[in-house]
Amino acid sequence: MTLSARSGCIAISPTMKVAADAMRLKAQGVDVVDFGAGEPDFPTPAHISAAAQKAIEANFTKYTNSSGTEDLRRAVIERYRADYGVEYSASEVIISAGGKQALFNAVMSLFGAGDEVITHAPGWPTLVEQIKIADATPVIVRAHAEDGFALHAESFIAAMTPRTRGIILNSPTNPTGALISEDDLAQIAVEAARRDIWVILDLCYERLIYDPVPHNTPGVMGKLLRDRTVLCGSASKTYAMTGWRCGWALGPAPLISACNALQSHSTSNVSSISQKAAEAALRGPQACVTEMLDEYRRRRDQLYVWLTADPRIRLQKPAGAFYMFPDVSEFLSPDGIRTSAELATALLDHARVAVTPGEAFDAPGFLRLSYATSLAELDRGTQRIFEFLNGIVHRRAVGA
Ligand code: PMP
Repeated sequence: MTLSARSGCIAISPTMKVAADAMRLKAQGVDVVDFGAGEPDFPTPAHISAAAQKAIEANFTKYTNSSGTEDLRRAVIERYRADYGVEYSASEVIISAGGKQALFNAVMSLFGAGDEVITHAPGWPTLVEQIKIADATPVIVRAHAEDGFALHAESFIAAMTPRTRGIILNSPTNPTGALISEDDLAQIAVEAARRDIWVILDLCYERLIYDPVPHNTPGVMGKLLRDRTVLCGSASKTYAMTGWRCGWALGPAPLISACNALQSHSTSNVSSISQKAAEAALRGPQACVTEMLDEYRRRRDQLYVWLTADPRIRLQKPAGAFYMFPDVSEFLSPDGIRTSAELATALLDHARVAVTPGEAFDAPGFLRLSYATSLAELDRGTQRIFEFLNGIVHRRAVGA
């Protein structure tokens, strides 16, 4: 079958593939411990679901503006004002089907053939694929385990060329949980302003930061590069609402209007019911966010202890999001399991634990373990992983 050239250069999301493989096994009745999922295991908080039920009962079930209801856009504006001290007007906000579509609209509206767009690895694969869908060229800045996967301003500035049109930053970062410092972000913003470069912030995990470090990235950008910044946020991870598909972008009105034109000819508005739910999430009590964060922190601290009990695993404690990203290269060898991708497959096939290989994030030699699952599951899964890894080492020692 002949498909378009565009289809030919896009691969299915590797993170979604892991989820699908695990789901398939589970459907066959196999007892899989799932560390693959990039989504909260908590139910959507009750007051949010109640708002959706109310919307259905009130027959709020018709098209809305393609850019989202005025009420929800106001709720986003007020949340960002309260949390980050930034000011946006209704024409500077669009509601989209998750952070993913908010990013997609922005990338498609800003970049095209001949443009270079800088992003970082290890990183969420969709960012690079979206740049390619827009016919632009991704330029990758590498972060390194040895310095906590920090995103250094110098590396971004060194990657800028006369063709650079944009930078896409995700902090807290999926899969490493690292944060960009406000100072590094400010240096990038100053240089971007000088060179007319756009900065897109992927704020998907913005509310999932464990320690009180300064991380007002929208505030930094608001001060230094407001007219070339796009803030892409989402209800998915913060409010355990991945399936509701609700996110947003804030940016200069002409860009938001271009995003809306694109969206109006593709998906139109986000489900009217989801919009009511997101409004309740943003305007309602925020204690549910803190409660979930506290539970993620407990899991993070425990899983870190379990994993680092084995000196062969090298691991940074994540500052945000809900993933561990251990270096597992000690367990790889040319005559055994050669790559982290093979290790992830073997773990699923033999240990019945779903993890995502580092290859999915452009970082071979690592595995991503999501700890958005209960402590009991984390315990069970870690034991299975170690049994399997110790078996590899044993087989290697006896030459089997
Ligand atoms: N950014 C990052 C870094 C993510 O990991 C994800 C989801 N995995 C998203 C954006 C998009 O999530 P959603 O579309 O559900 O808002």
